[in-house]
Amino acid sequence: MLFQTRKCPCGRENDYETCCGLLHSGKARAATAEQLMRSRYSAYALKLIDYLYDTTHPDKRTSDLKLQMAAWAERAEFLKLEVLAARQGRAKDKVGKVEFIAHYRQYGEMKQMHEVSRFRRFDGSWHYFDGEID
Ligand SMILES: [Zn+2]
Repeated sequence: MLFQTRKCPCGRENDYETCCGLLHSGKARAATAEQLMRSRYSAYALKLIDYLYDTTHPDKRTSDLKLQMAAWAERAEFLKLEVLAARQGRAKDKVGKVEFIAHYRQYGEMKQMHEVSRFRRFDGSWHYFDGEID
């Protein structure tokens, strides 16, 4: 696979295989909301729509969610993730918030998305709940 020897798209100084790749393949679970958030950014970059769907909180899985996510992943070229802040979302928390800026290119233009995402535990695992875009 193309990303095996590359740095992980999430911006950590790790190879994909030892970073978000572990979560995408199901070998590990996100310990924190921030880790899940990073892995979802990487999943968008790699167009892993099933992973994005599975890590969306069941209450937020609309019937067209996969189509929406696939369309978004297709349109954008994800360039860089900056995590600005994380509140709660640790091993013993049930909820968490992560503020980030995603840098991407769309139709030849450089863009940024500034979002505060909310995460909740479901069945013991972190899931994306919703987000406020700035
Ligand atoms: Zn990663």
